[in-house]
Formats: sequence, structure tokens, C-alpha cells
Amino acid sequence: MSLGLLGPAMTTEPCDGCGKQVTIAGGIANLWTLENDSTGGMTLEFDADGSEHFLCFDCIDGLPDDPRAEDVAAL
Ligand SMILES: [Zn+2]
Repeated sequence: MSLGLLGPAMTTEPCDGCGKQVTIAGGIANLWTLENDSTGGMTLEFDADGSEHFLCFDCIDGLPDDPRAEDVAAL
């Protein structure tokens, strides 16, 4: 996996749902643990097609409990 987001520096990533630039603190591996509340989104991985989508929490809130790639595309 190579996402180019490793390292401690703050960075931003465009949300795949709304296109907003979202602040990310720390490496991609920390997104799931939500250790840093300045992180504004996280990456979802869909086993069905192996795709990954970075979404802000506003868009994540709009997804169903068991989101699929189609749900992200519909945002
Ligand atoms: Zn969004």
C-alpha cells in the first residue's frame, strides 16, 4: 500500500464525496484509531472491489451502516 501520507506532518486530502480539502494528522495508519481529533476524515476500504475512498466525517455520517463503493459514488 502506498498512499504517500506516511509521517507526522499535517497534510490535506480531498474528500472523495464532497471534494472538500480535509486535514489529516499523522500517518494513514492512525486514521482508524482516531487518536488525533484534528483529523477530519478517514479512508474506507471496500472488500467488494478493493477500492479505497477518503471521506470527511460529514460524508461518512451520510453513509449507511454497511457502506459500499456505490454509496460513496452517490454522495
Ligand atoms: Zn466530504
